[in-house]
Amino acid sequence: MTPNLNMFSLEGKTALVTGANTGLGQGICIAYAKAGANVIGVARRSCEDTAAKIADFGGSFKEIIADLSDISVVPTIVEQSQKAFGRVDILVNNAGIIKRCDAVDVSIEDWDAVINVNEKMVFFLSQAFAKGWVKDNKGGKIINIASMLSYQGGIRVPAYTASKSAIIGLTRELANEWSKYNINVNGIAPGYMETNNTENLRNDEHRSEEILGRIPAGRWGTPEDIAGAAIFLASEASSYVHGFTIAVDGGWLAR
Ligand code: NAD
Repeated sequence: MTPNLNMFSLEGKTALVTGANTGLGQGICIAYAKAGANVIGVARRSCEDTAAKIADFGGSFKEIIADLSDISVVPTIVEQSQKAFGRVDILVNNAGIIKRCDAVDVSIEDWDAVINVNEKMVFFLSQAFAKGWVKDNKGGKIINIASMLSYQGGIRVPAYTASKSAIIGLTRELANEWSKYNINVNGIAPGYMETNNTENLRNDEHRSEEILGRIPAGRWGTPEDIAGAAIFLASEASSYVHGFTIAVDGGWLAR
């Protein structure tokens, strides 16, 4: 029997992706628009580059400008997304920041900045959309962007490691509560990807060589590399996948 590949289609769905102006968020927006979804990108800065790339193939995209370090923006994001395309079906918690510093020197401000965007916002934005989904009983998809540092300790990034380790736990916890409402909560753990987030690492010749030498695939990942997992977890194809985080890491965790 031929498999029904329509199960991967996002036609008629609306996806909201945070951190959509660049990097992995931009890659996910483009992938979703190509799969047929209406896409809403949330970012601090204009998503004009993402919008132009999606317009090139006639995809559907709107942006919401918001600073995701403060959860007071959550109701506005929900309201503006409904105005843009009606019901949001898919939420991708992608926005994230990293601050590199020896653990003994980390300031309270830097700790809070990382935790607020990478962890606190992920929970409260998920809660805001899930409230509507529980009420209308039409299901939903939440995809949280984790990290290799959800599994490993890392060095000089204590707040980032704490937040990304929390993401895997939160993904499981929310799946336990919301699966019965047909809401799939899952995650993607990218490996070492070529984006602004890893610019400092890639510019450091020693660290860059060290990292590359440990990636079985022999190359850094790209935003296009997570498109497949992101579409799978947003589509009907993953309807019985709950609380799991898929690594897209060129084999890093297998080492
Ligand atoms: P990036 O720095 O290129 O993008 C980060 C995105 O988050 C940007 O769109 C930025 O505007 C947004 N953002 C950050 N703070 C924000 C705020 N206060 N308000 C609104 N938007 C905000 O990095 P990236 O690599 O594309 O990162 C995307 C996600 O993937 C992050 O959660 C990151 O931790 C995770 N990740 C990246 C890698 C990697 O190797 N690049 C690996 C593992 C996980």
